[in-house]
Amino acid sequence: MSNTEPSVFTRIIAREIPAEIVFESDSVIAIRDIAPKAPVHLLVVPKSQQYRNVAELAAGDPALLADVVAVAQSLADEHTGGEFRLVFNTGESAGQTVFHVHAHVMGTNAPGLKLTEGTLVE
Ligand code: AMP
Repeated sequence: MSNTEPSVFTRIIAREIPAEIVFESDSVIAIRDIAPKAPVHLLVVPKSQQYRNVAELAAGDPALLADVVAVAQSLADEHTGGEFRLVFNTGESAGQTVFHVHAHVMGTNAPGLKLTEGTLVE
């Protein structure tokens, strides 16, 4: 996708398409993933779509990346008891489908329930 077209997340931020928004600030929005891969699966998204992936974000605006991580922790505090897996898919072969940087925050919300480790190759 060309980065000049609005991404699905930009369209959510603009309220053009619906989403369950769980957090919003001037610079970041967090939503529930529409196709969850864990009992709790949230996405933390910088509002600017100028960075396609986490490496670009780290190089271009490390403070904004730190904000994304801080929001992930505070969402985990609220939704998963504070523990979480943070994933940034980077590139198509790694599973990235939306080229507007976003963090997947995944965790569990029931005592004794754990995320598994394993290979993800199809
Ligand atoms: P990635 O594959 O790492 O680029 O992650 C994109 C994520 O966005 C996937 O987990 C999708 O399920 C999620 N997604 C796509 N469209 C929406 C939407 N409209 N609302 C919420 N999550 C979405």
